Amino acid sequence: MTATSTAVGIAGAVRSGERSARSVVEEHLAVIAARDAELHACNHVMVDDALATADAVDAAVARGEDAGPLAGVPVVLKDNLCTRGVPTTCSSRILDGWRPPYTATVVERLLLAGGIPVAKANLDEFAMGSSTENSAFGPTRNPHDTSRVPGGSSGGSAAAVAAGYAPLALGSDTGGSIRQPAALCGVVGVKPTYGRVSRFGLVAFASSLDQIGPLATTVDDAALLLEAIWGPDAMDSTAIPSQPEALGGDTDIAGMRIGIVEELTDVEGIAPEVKAAVERAAAGLDAAGARVERVSVPSCAYGLSAYYLIAPAEASSNLARYDGVRYGLRVDAADVAEMNAKTRDAGFGAEVKRRIMLGTYALSAGYYDAYYGQAQKVRTLIIRDFAQAYERFDVLLSPTSPTEAFPLGAKTADPLAMYLSDVCTIPTNLAGHSAMSVPFGTGAEGLPVGVQVLAPAQGESVMFRVARAVEGIVA
Ligand code: GLN
Repeated sequence: MTATSTAVGIAGAVRSGERSARSVVEEHLAVIAARDAELHACNHVMVDDALATADAVDAAVARGEDAGPLAGVPVVLKDNLCTRGVPTTCSSRILDGWRPPYTATVVERLLLAGGIPVAKANLDEFAMGSSTENSAFGPTRNPHDTSRVPGGSSGGSAAAVAAGYAPLALGSDTGGSIRQPAALCGVVGVKPTYGRVSRFGLVAFASSLDQIGPLATTVDDAALLLEAIWGPDAMDSTAIPSQPEALGGDTDIAGMRIGIVEELTDVEGIAPEVKAAVERAAAGLDAAGARVERVSVPSCAYGLSAYYLIAPAEASSNLARYDGVRYGLRVDAADVAEMNAKTRDAGFGAEVKRRIMLGTYALSAGYYDAYYGQAQKVRTLIIRDFAQAYERFDVLLSPTSPTEAFPLGAKTADPLAMYLSDVCTIPTNLAGHSAMSVPFGTGAEGLPVGVQVLAPAQGESVMFRVARAVEGIVA
């Protein structure tokens, strides 16, 4: 990455008047125009809005004002983030024609910081999926190999950053949807601590797990965006009320204690070269002065099972609002109940319907204790096991995705195989902790591999320090 193509480099050049925000935006819009017919990372390109925002940034610079830490930096937004007056589809037919009457807090904050939203990115419908193939508008392709998936559900955001549409993107992560596509597209992806970033204006999937976070080409760029969007927000009662500690620029990891999570690394299903990447990263961290050991976090093995009860249960409730009255699509019928049913049948795709049915079943009388209740107990065990691990370790390490990017269509007929894509990322969401994926070389098929750095709640500062160290190791 050259300094002028990173967010840090662009913001520096725009703030000093060396480059205009308009020229930066025009350059990136040209990349989108050249590549998106093939990649389909975008649902909607905000050409006029982006140029108008860029002109406002340039005018501020001309007046001698501070244009902000993201001055002139193009940012791609996952299309489940509300943008006032701009279509927000969640890649679902049920939101056809809906234009939100308000803007997500994260988008307001990045605008305040001088950032420039340039496009709404494709995703798996309502963020349910791991390949972006569940989009109602067709899949996104991986820029490293267009016969492969970019991962998901923030596949459009990850592909956009990897293809140079923008140095930064925002995604959402409920069970791995920022980190897994980041790994498959060779970019950095961060899931902050639950509550660290306001969810106001993020269309809800599973409210106790959802978190918004950055995708970027470098760890420092991800830090720049995270610092622009995080912090308390009166519009989200689950936002942590205190101001977070700044991320700093430290890379020193001497004496740091780092644990490789056995249950997420030394298990069947993790490709040998992915495991080898974690080992090489660990060896590099050890050489830089950290003390690396294996650690068992036993209940992590049950994370996936618990997640596929809790997330669908919450989704079945959150998605009840799409009734043909308040949002987007309506299929007319003789009476209201039939209109509701026909609208939902036509508006939701197969995976969304599957989740609603799974969730409704897990919550129904007679099954609640056996399914939802048990899953909540597993969640408590995961929190307890992580707490024990963090008594001995500052951060933990694991693969992000079990494999490199897989071919389009490889897992669409087998939902369970698709669900396994998130086996390494889900425990973090259940615990409410932070974790990030850092690109680390390539695998057997020559495609990107990511290493996951996990940290306790509000442990972003130490997590970024280790991520910078991983980034500096020659993979
Ligand atoms: N792939 C997981 C799922 O389908 C995670 C999705 C996400 O994090 N939004 O639920």
